Amino acid sequence: MSYCASRYHTVRRHTHPVNVGGIGVGGSNPLRIQSMTTSDTQDVAATVQQSIALAEVGCEIVRITAPNVAAAKCLRAIRSQFSAAGFAHIPLVADIHFLPSAAMEAVEHVEKIRVNPGNYADKKKFAVREYSDGDYDTELARLHETFSPLVLRCRALGRAMRIGTNHGSLSDRIMNRYGDTPLGMVESALEFLRIARDHRYDQIMLSMKSSNPKVMIQAYRLLVERMTQEDMHYPLHLGVTEAGDGEDGRIKSAIGIGSLLLDGLGDTIRVSLTEDSVYEIPVARAIADKAMSLWSSTVVAPATDRIDPYHFNKRATTTLTFSETCLVGPAQPPRVIVRVPSIAALSAAARDLASPKFKDTPPEGLLVPIATAGDLAALCEVAATTPLPFSFLALELSPTLTPDLLQPLLALSPGRLLLVRPFTATEESTLRAFAESVRQHGHFLACELTPAAAHALAFTLRALGDDRLVFSLDASACLSSAGAPAAQPAPLDSAHAAGRYRALVEALHLAGSRTPIWIRTTAATAVRGENSFLSKLLEASFLNGSLLCDGIGDFVSIETEADVTRSLKLAYNVLQGAGARISKTEFVACPSCGRTLFDLQTTTQRIRAQTGHLKGVKLAIMGCIVNGPGEMADADFGYVGGAPGKINLYVGKNCVLYNLPQAEADSRLIALIKEHGKWIEPDPAQA
Ligand code: SF4
Repeated sequence: MSYCASRYHTVRRHTHPVNVGGIGVGGSNPLRIQSMTTSDTQDVAATVQQSIALAEVGCEIVRITAPNVAAAKCLRAIRSQFSAAGFAHIPLVADIHFLPSAAMEAVEHVEKIRVNPGNYADKKKFAVREYSDGDYDTELARLHETFSPLVLRCRALGRAMRIGTNHGSLSDRIMNRYGDTPLGMVESALEFLRIARDHRYDQIMLSMKSSNPKVMIQAYRLLVERMTQEDMHYPLHLGVTEAGDGEDGRIKSAIGIGSLLLDGLGDTIRVSLTEDSVYEIPVARAIADKAMSLWSSTVVAPATDRIDPYHFNKRATTTLTFSETCLVGPAQPPRVIVRVPSIAALSAAARDLASPKFKDTPPEGLLVPIATAGDLAALCEVAATTPLPFSFLALELSPTLTPDLLQPLLALSPGRLLLVRPFTATEESTLRAFAESVRQHGHFLACELTPAAAHALAFTLRALGDDRLVFSLDASACLSSAGAPAAQPAPLDSAHAAGRYRALVEALHLAGSRTPIWIRTTAATAVRGENSFLSKLLEASFLNGSLLCDGIGDFVSIETEADVTRSLKLAYNVLQGAGARISKTEFVACPSCGRTLFDLQTTTQRIRAQTGHLKGVKLAIMGCIVNGPGEMADADFGYVGGAPGKINLYVGKNCVLYNLPQAEADSRLIALIKEHGKWIEPDPAQA
């Protein structure tokens, strides 16, 4: 596996630096933060004002769309006024789709050009045809001819370039040969890279964006693998495109960008939100700071594990049955556990979580800390008087509690308890005693282990079998050894919780175990000890997203929120963002730019309010027909700006209603969803 130096440490990928108007990207430069203006580029004053606003909140590179030659010409005045306002040090980037003529104009005025290899030299027709090798070579020669002038001009002027591939907007040539796949995305960029190399031009960076974090993660990894094979070391620009807004947009971005940064990939990032672009910057800054705090130059752990990083496969596990509706295993979605801070809070939490508004996002398990025999007695009392409408209770046991003290509790209905306890490498007999107790009563045992303990207990784990066990990481033990877990076969980075989970999974694999994995997000799994909600949201997204997108994780619990309903919501939002469990409508909304034909923010919020209950339906809200239809990828329905004040509606990739007045478009969209049998009436109890 050559896409990264380590999957257990964050070892930054070696790249050659690219100079973007004096700002270095890649090499030994810090991660750079960038964003994009949303004004009409020909409104020079508004675009300069937005660029200044972005620079003032910490944006290091500002991108501006150049949809035509007239807009590209305006970049001269924008550059000059932006510099005059004191921002000569902030480079500007022209965003080009379709028009080489606009690129050739823009390159004269700004420090970097972004081209989309899916449409720079090709008009998108969604045509299905066979390309013989001869046809393909002819197409590549045409591409060479169209792209070369820009490369040569960038080289002459010292400009940088991004080859920015988007899932969903690949050329017909690539689509027909490779499909709309990560491999197609990579090949699309490589065609352009080879032309640049022919001209000895290397001031290039690349992106492989998708609104689906799994696709995006696989595409970037594959790109690095392929570039390494061709001795190319270009920096990477990371982003999840059309991520949407609010918590969901932040989570999706953090999952995609964070997972790659944990692997040491990425040199500049853009968090794309359907919000004013200044709100993207603090999120990007927090993501970049967390990632940079993990950069390490020492690799002592093995480079790889058994996960296929280029294809999604859910880890094969044994299936556990907690109830008729709560099975855990490879064919099941990850189950959600909510931690209640104390036994005293249990009844109130159970009541809150049983609300009908959580019908589609139920907590399957409730986790309660049990520190003393008194707690055990109190729990028995609560369990006798309060109906607990959950599939199981997880009991976080203090190591001082022995199996015999638990007997009254174990007599509760079989299969309803998951005992949770850390086990050290020397606690083989205790592990056996607990496993025996839960087996006798038909319950389950969650063993918290360091990777080293899993290694040391391999024989015992194999002997105990998989049918009553769950594994999680003993995160606190890693931290309590002052950042360096004791007796590891290969020391792990204590701050890299995803790496420690990967090492645990690898140790279990070596022990022959197919036991389900529980991803616990706690204060101990945090990269840094910040306490803001954004920081905790990013932590949860980094850890859960990177593991879930690699097919690891059968339970999740996000335990950094005191409020149980917040924990529940966050867990489901992270699962939705990772595509691991869909509990509501999936919105794909572009961040808007100078091409946008309606107010994306208010439109997205209005459509979400009417359709947010359509679990499993994917709706795209895109600002323009130039890129929208291509970039909305695999959405079921699309709401796309067709002309000023006019909306086109799509079913899949097909436009079915053209130029609707915007005032009618919402109701026509709902009618379309109904016609296709995907509408359900909202449940007032869940509103
Ligand atoms: S889809 Fe949205 S962000 Fe993309 S070019 Fe069109 S308006 Fe701009």
